[in-house]
Amino acid sequence: MRRARLVDARQMPVYDLGPEHPFAPFRQEPLADLLVREALVHQDEWLVPEPCSEDELQTVHDHAYVDLLVRLADPRDREAVRLGPVFGLGTEDNPIRPGQHRAAAAAAGGTVACVDAVVRGEADAAFNPTGGLHHAMPSAASGFCLYNDLALGVLAARRHGLRRVVYVDFDVHHGDGVERIFRDDPDVLTVSYHESPERRWPFTGRTSDRGRGAGTGSVLNVPLAPGTTDASWIDAVERTLVPALERFQPELILTQHGCDPHFLDPLADLSLTTSAMARAATLSRELAAQLCGGRWVATGGGGYQPIRVLPRAWTMVWCAVSGRAIPDQVDASWRAAWQARAGATPLAAKYADDPVDEPRAEAAAAANRTTVDEVLRLHGL
Ligand SMILES: [Zn+2]
Repeated sequence: MRRARLVDARQMPVYDLGPEHPFAPFRQEPLADLLVREALVHQDEWLVPEPCSEDELQTVHDHAYVDLLVRLADPRDREAVRLGPVFGLGTEDNPIRPGQHRAAAAAAGGTVACVDAVVRGEADAAFNPTGGLHHAMPSAASGFCLYNDLALGVLAARRHGLRRVVYVDFDVHHGDGVERIFRDDPDVLTVSYHESPERRWPFTGRTSDRGRGAGTGSVLNVPLAPGTTDASWIDAVERTLVPALERFQPELILTQHGCDPHFLDPLADLSLTTSAMARAATLSRELAAQLCGGRWVATGGGGYQPIRVLPRAWTMVWCAVSGRAIPDQVDASWRAAWQARAGATPLAAKYADDPVDEPRAEAAAAANRTTVDEVLRLHGL
C-alpha cells in the first residue's frame, strides 16, 4: 500500500454558501461517512490542516480582496457589504455568508498541507476533497470559489524548491482562475478538460488560448462537446495529457476532480459515468509514478449531486491516491442512511455506473476527435 493523506473535512469549518445554493454545504458529509463505513481510511492517513494565513493568501490574492473577506466576518460592517460587488461578492453565485473567509482559508490550507506532505516525502500522494476551487481570481470571487487553493498549492511546491508543476483540471467547467494566475509562467502547465466554451460558463478555455509571453504553450485547453461519453472523454484525455506531460517533465502533478461531468449533474451537459472519473485518477497516478517520483496531489471541485455521485466518485479518487482497490458494491448501510435525503430514486448500488444511453455520443466523439487533433497540432505534440 502507498503512503497517502486525506484531508479531514469533518474537522474543518463548513464551506457554506447557503442552504439553497447548488454547492451544498453538507457535501463533504456523505463522502466522509462512506469512506468510514467502507473502512477505506486508516487512522494515520487523516490530515487536519492549518488554514492559510492572510499573508499566505496574499501571495495569490490582492490585499484588498482578502481584507474585504476578513471584514465580512463582521455582519455589522456595512461598508464591507457595500463593497462586495466590486470583488464578485454578494451575487447569486457568490453570496456574502458568515464564516466564509475562515472556511475558504481552511480549504486552501488543505491543499497546501497536501503539497507539503507530498513534497517533504511524508506521503506519496494526498487528496483534499475540500479543495479544487479553480475559478477564484486574484481579486474576485467567481463560480462559488473564494480562494484559489490550487494556485496556493503550486506556490507551496515552489517554496520547497520544486520548479515545474502541472495542474490538470477534470471539472466540467474551464479551470479559468488557475489558468489566469499562471498563464505567463512557463514553469506551470495548466491543462483543462471542460465542456465547450460556446455552451458552458465561464465561456473561456478555447484551444487557441495557449498562455502569454514567456508562458506561451503552458496553457492547454481541451473543450469537449455536449453529450460526450466515457470512451471519447478518456480518449481525449489520454491522447493529450500523456504527450504533454512527457514533454513538460513536471516535478509535481496537481489535479482537480470536479465530478460535474457526470451524466446526472444538473449544472452541465457531459455524459460521463464514474468509471471515466476513476480513469482520470488512475492515469494521474500512473503519470506521477512515471514522471515525478509519484508526487501527486488531488483535489475535489465542482459536483452538484452531493449524494448520488460525489461520494462514489471521490471515494474512487481516494482509492487511486491511496493505492486501494475500488470496492464493487456501495456499502448498504450507507445507502440506507442517505436514501431519504437523496429522494425516491434508489441510490446506485455499485461504484461503477452502467454505461449511459446517450444519443449524441457519436456526434460528440467525432467533434472531440477534431478538437484533439487541433490541440495536438497547435501544441506540436
Ligand atoms: Zn464545475
